[in-house]
Amino acid sequence: MSAEVERIRIPGLDREISRIGLGTWAMGGWMWGGSDEADAVASVERAFEMGINLVDTAPVYGFGRAEEIVGHALRRIGHRQELVIATKVGLEWNARGEIRRNSRPERIRQEVEESLRRLGVDVIDLYQVHWPDPSTPVESTAETLLRLREEGKIRAIGVSNYSVAQMERWRQAAPLHTAQPPYNLFEREAEREILPYCREHGVATLTYGVLARGLLTGKFTAGTTFPEGDLRRQDPKFQGERFRHYLEAVDRLRPLAERHGRSLAQLAARWALQQPGVQVSLWGVRRPAQVEEVAGVWGWSLDAGELAEIERILAESIPEPVGPEFMAPPEA
Ligand code: NAP
Repeated sequence: MSAEVERIRIPGLDREISRIGLGTWAMGGWMWGGSDEADAVASVERAFEMGINLVDTAPVYGFGRAEEIVGHALRRIGHRQELVIATKVGLEWNARGEIRRNSRPERIRQEVEESLRRLGVDVIDLYQVHWPDPSTPVESTAETLLRLREEGKIRAIGVSNYSVAQMERWRQAAPLHTAQPPYNLFEREAEREILPYCREHGVATLTYGVLARGLLTGKFTAGTTFPEGDLRRQDPKFQGERFRHYLEAVDRLRPLAERHGRSLAQLAARWALQQPGVQVSLWGVRRPAQVEEVAGVWGWSLDAGELAEIERILAESIPEPVGPEFMAPPEA
C-alpha cells in the first residue's frame, strides 16, 4: 500500500497538490461533539509526512480553533512552501454560536487579517467563499477577493456551495480557480450541473465530505449513537429507516473494496477521484490513525464493471437518497 501519492496542478497555484486534501472541520470541535487539540495537530503533521500537502480549513470551524490548530501544525512542520493552505471566508458568528452568511467587502477584509494571524502565514494559498451570501452582490465579493490577490494576501480564488448561475456571475468579475461542492458516493447532486460546468470552464474542484461524515467508513451500525453537539444527530441520513438503507448499501459495497484488499473508505475516495470533473477530494479527520487510511487510496482503480455494480447497489439499497442540505447555514 505504499503507492505514490497522486498529485495535480490546479489553476492559480504554482505547486502541485495531493488529490486528497486534509479536512479540518471536526478538528474545530464545533458540530462534531468536541475534539482533541493534540490529536488534531498530530493529524496534520502525519498527513504531511504521508505526502498530503493540501489542508482545507475555515474560520467558522470551532470559531477560529481549526485555523489555530493548522497554524500550530504549520509551525511544527516548517516546509511552508510545500504546503498548500486553503481556508474560507464569509460566515460570521456571534457569542451564542449562531452563524450568518456575510460576504460584504468590509467583512472579508476583516476576516482575511484574522485568518492570516491564526494560521501564522503571510499569504493564504487558496481563499474560498464558504457559502453564497444572497444579500451581497456576487460581483462585489468577487472583486474584493481579486483585490486581495493583487495585494498578495491570497493566491488562488475559490467558492464553495455556489450554484452554476452564481459561478457564472463571479467569472464575469474575477477569476475563479476552484469550486468546493459536496460530493461522495451518497451525495451526487454536483454531477448534474456543478462538475460539468467546472470541467467546461477550467475550474478545479475540491469536493467535500468524501466519507459522508464517516458513514462511508463502514464503522456505524443501526445502534450507533452520537454525542451531544454532533451534527450526525440531525443528519437525515442517520435517522430511522433511511439510516438502515444507507447501512445496507455500506454492507453491500464492502466486498467490492475487499476484492481490491482495500477498506470501504478507500473505495469511497477512489470512486470519487475517478469521477469526471473531480480534481481533489477532501477527507476530514480528527486523529492521526484516521489519516493512515489515506495511504490505500493510491495506485489502483475501479473498472467499468465495478463502477456499474456500485450504481446498482446504490439504486437498490437507497430508495430515498437525501443530500447534505441540512448543513446549509441560514440565508439571512
Ligand atoms: P467526511 O470527510 O465525509 O468525514 C469525516 C469524518 O469521518 C471524520 O471527522 C471522522 O469522524 C470520520 N473518519 C475519517 N477518517 C476515518 C477513518 N479512517 N476511520 C474512521 N472514521 C474516520 O466529512 P467532512 O469532514 O465533513 O468533510 C471533509 C472536509 O471537507 C471537512 O473537514 C472540511 O474541510 C470540508 N467541508 C467543507 C464544507 C463546505 O461547506 N465548504 C462542508 C463540509 C466539509 P468521527 O471520528 O467523528 O467519526
